[in-house]
Amino acid sequence: MKPEERDDALNLRLRSLPPVGQVIENLPDLPHAVAVGIARAALDGARALIRAGDEVTLEEVLDLARKAAAEHPRNAMTPVINATGVMIHTNLGRVPLGRAQLDAVRAIAEGYSNLEYDLVTGRRGDRYARARQALVTLTGAESAVVVNNNAAGVLVTLAALCFSKEVIVSRGELIEIGGEFRLPDVMTSSGATLREIGTTNRTHLADYERAIAPESAAILKVHPSNYRVVGFTQVVGVRELARLAHGRGILLLYDLGSGLIDDEREWTGDEPSVARALEEGADLVMFSGDKLLGGPQCGIVAGRMDPIERIAAHPLMRALRPDKMTLAALDATLELHLAGRTDELPLWAMVARTSNELEERAAALAASVSERLEAAKIEARAVAAVAGGGSLPGTELSSWAVAVTHPEIGAAEIQRRLRTRGRPIVARIEDDVVLLDLRTLQPVEETEVAAALIDILS
Ligand SMILES: *Cc1c(COP(=O)(O)O)cnc(C)c1O
Repeated sequence: MKPEERDDALNLRLRSLPPVGQVIENLPDLPHAVAVGIARAALDGARALIRAGDEVTLEEVLDLARKAAAEHPRNAMTPVINATGVMIHTNLGRVPLGRAQLDAVRAIAEGYSNLEYDLVTGRRGDRYARARQALVTLTGAESAVVVNNNAAGVLVTLAALCFSKEVIVSRGELIEIGGEFRLPDVMTSSGATLREIGTTNRTHLADYERAIAPESAAILKVHPSNYRVVGFTQVVGVRELARLAHGRGILLLYDLGSGLIDDEREWTGDEPSVARALEEGADLVMFSGDKLLGGPQCGIVAGRMDPIERIAAHPLMRALRPDKMTLAALDATLELHLAGRTDELPLWAMVARTSNELEERAAALAASVSERLEAAKIEARAVAAVAGGGSLPGTELSSWAVAVTHPEIGAAEIQRRLRTRGRPIVARIEDDVVLLDLRTLQPVEETEVAAALIDILS
């Protein structure tokens, strides 16, 4: 074939591709702009194949587009059923919000509000006043500010108080917080210099003492919230650090991460609470809103009045400020803590479930599925649920799961089928057995889970 003839044949094949409209007609019902995008991408793919010398039939083009369309709903954010037993699951949205929290979000978001408007004077108000008041009462702090998450809290604190100065941190506390973010990188973006001291497993008071210099602005203690250093270890407590820092005229900052408000809970063991850290002498404590507090994603910095005011006045505060929906959910969360109604926070409701209750639910669910399936083995099993989300490392909570195995379908395949359903169910695997943990499974989700198991294993 001469080159011109080859070009003609190529052009003919390219021209024989269907128009965008015809591809769209063969797709399921999708938003128009999405369908156009998928059709164009499929046609681009077909053109590339043709130019590479392949033949592409109409059916193949349509197949390409249909596959992309089938992927589409899974790319959208969608509710999933958490059967992992991990209660604070960062990849699944940390913690669910309850009725009171959601009602507050809705009431504020659907209209105008006094977000930053003082109804008494008719002038500009303070968007953090409500949260601050509640935090002061709950934690004994003199004041507090709220930002988008705890990483932002650390960032703005160091930027406002330690810019171009040194912050002393133990090497045993330089942590990665997931998603490849490392706290030391967040800290240095503030313009502060990290002065690392001690070793991974042992840091002594003398290490801190030696490191304090004229350029020091603060000691930063970081709670090892997602790991535990065990064995031959040495850390310095808040009281000792506070005495040292204050004697030398610098601040003690404490990144607490998990943000336990109430010390009185059996399950949380020796997890330090915000109130205790402040009481023991930390000037500022930083923590997340969506870990043990049980609220929306946000970061809280609480502590002494003067440093809080310097943080509040820093320009980064404007860049890191949470929106009205977050603040509405946070205010509602803090109200529940103040009212002693933490059982209305889904996280704490999950924690409060007794092992007996979970055993009964697991047994009933297993039985209802088991009687409808022949080959699969479905049974209740005692397991351990964890807090997750960088909270309470090493603290387990006894739980019950529905354990699923099948002679012909492997655990990974069962897990995949559960995950790729219309209402995805996320389960965990232990020793080749799929486990659906009742600690995080909501009672209203059980019918859906039973139906899913029967569907994917029949
Ligand atoms: C979770 C955690 C963070 C990060 O908090 P985000 O709210 O996710 O930004 C930082 N420090 C510690 C100690 C944590 O546990």
